[in-house]
Amino acid sequence: MLSILQCMNCGRQYPVDEVVYNCADCGGLLDVSHDLNALRKIVSRELFDQRLGSLERPYNSGVWRYKELVYPDVDPDMIVSRPEGNTNLYQTSKLAHWAGVETLYLKHEGENPTGSFKDRGMTGGLTQAKVLGMTRVACASTGNTSASLAAYAALGGLEGIVFFQNKQIALGKLSQAIAYGATCVQIAADFDRNLELVREVGAALGIYVLNSVNPFRLEGQKSIMIELIQQLRWQVPDWIVCPGGNLGNSSAFGKALRELYELGLIDRIPRLAIIQAEGANPLFRAFQKEFEDYQPIHAETIATAIKIGNPVNYPKAVRSIEWTNGVVEQVTDQEIMDAKALIDAQGIGCEPASGCSLAGVRKLVNDGIIKPHETVVGILTGHLLKDPDATIAYHRDQLDSIKAHYPNHIHEVAPSVDEIARILSNGGEHELIR
Ligand SMILES: *Cc1c(COP(=O)(O)O)cnc(C)c1O
Ligand SMILES: [Zn+2]
Repeated sequence: MLSILQCMNCGRQYPVDEVVYNCADCGGLLDVSHDLNALRKIVSRELFDQRLGSLERPYNSGVWRYKELVYPDVDPDMIVSRPEGNTNLYQTSKLAHWAGVETLYLKHEGENPTGSFKDRGMTGGLTQAKVLGMTRVACASTGNTSASLAAYAALGGLEGIVFFQNKQIALGKLSQAIAYGATCVQIAADFDRNLELVREVGAALGIYVLNSVNPFRLEGQKSIMIELIQQLRWQVPDWIVCPGGNLGNSSAFGKALRELYELGLIDRIPRLAIIQAEGANPLFRAFQKEFEDYQPIHAETIATAIKIGNPVNYPKAVRSIEWTNGVVEQVTDQEIMDAKALIDAQGIGCEPASGCSLAGVRKLVNDGIIKPHETVVGILTGHLLKDPDATIAYHRDQLDSIKAHYPNHIHEVAPSVDEIARILSNGGEHELIR
C-alpha cells in the first residue's frame, strides 16, 4: 500500500479503509499520507504530460491525471468522475494592471462540472465512499459542497444528503442540490452548527461525511496546484492567491506544493496568500498574532461560500502557511464585489467569494508584500451563475453598505428607434477597464 491515514499531531496511523475523520487518540486532523520514496520512482513531469488530452478514463480527468499523487492504490473501476478539472488558466493584462502586477493568471475552478472546485474534492470523496462500501453520504454546506455532493452521489449511485442553513444559500447552489436529487435538509442554524450536526448524525447513522474534514477530498483538491503548474510548463509562479473559508483549499495547496517539491517535480515552493472576508476572518486574526491565539467568530459576509467562523481545517492551513512562507490578508465586502465586477466584465466571471483573489492581490501589492514583477496566480473558486442575486443587486446598487463602483446599469428605453439610438450613442459603462 502506498498510502495511509496519519494524524497530523501525534502521527498515529490508520489504514485507508477505516472510517475515521479525526485521530482517536488526540482528536487531530488526518492526512492521507503517501509513500513519497516509492512514488519518486514512479511519477515524473513526462508521465503527467503524456496523459494530457487523454480520452480515456480516469486520465481524462484533471484530478485523476495525477492519480499517483491523489490515491495511488485505488482501483480505477471504483473512481466516480464526471470528469472534473481541466480548467482554464486566463492571463489578464487588464486585471494585472488594476491589481498592480505585471503578470497575473486566474485559474477558473468555476469551470468544473457543477461550477466550483468542490468537484475536485468530491470525486476523491465519493470514490472513497465506494471503496468503503457506503450507501449514503452527507455534508453541511454553504452551497457548493451540496451541489457537488448531490451530483457525484447520483453519478455513483449513492444517496446524497445535504444540510443547509435556512437563509442565505445562493440560488444557483440550492437549485442544483434539489435537481440532482439529494435529500435536502434545511436547518435553522448557521454553517458552523450544521457541520457539528452532520458529524453527529453521520456517526450515529453510519453515513459517510464528506465535508472538507474528509482528507480524501483534500487529496482531490491538490490537483488544482498540480494542474496549474503543469499549465505553466512546470515553472512555478511566485504567488498563489486564494479565498479562505473552511480552509480546505488552503490545506490542500500547501500539501500539494510540498509533495511536488519533495518529489522533484518543482524546484521551489511558491508563496501562498490566503484571503478572507473581513467579516469571516478567524485565520487572518490568528495570523496577526503569529498563530499564538485562535478564536472562532460569528461570520458575516456577502460572499456566502466563505461565511465560516470556525474553519475545520485551521491547523492544516497554519501548516500550509508555514510550509510556503505564506501570508493571510483580509478584504471588505466592498472590495470583494468590486473585484468580482471587474473579473465579470472581462468576460471571465465568478461568484462573490472568488473576488477575494483579485482584491487580495491588489491589497498585497499596495502593502508591498507582493512585488510588481512577481508572477501571481489567483484562484477563482466558483462560477458566475452560482449567485445571480448578488450580481444583479450589485449592478442595481441595491446592496446594503456596498456601493457599486463598476456598475453596468440596465437602460430603460421607450420602444423608439430614436430613443434607443440616443442611448447607444453614449457608449457603455466600463470604459475604465475596456
Ligand atoms: C467552498 C468555497 C470556498 C472556500 O473554500 P475553502 O476550501 O473552504 O476555504 C471559496 N469559494 C467558493 C466558490 C467555494 O465554493
Ligand atoms: Zn493524534
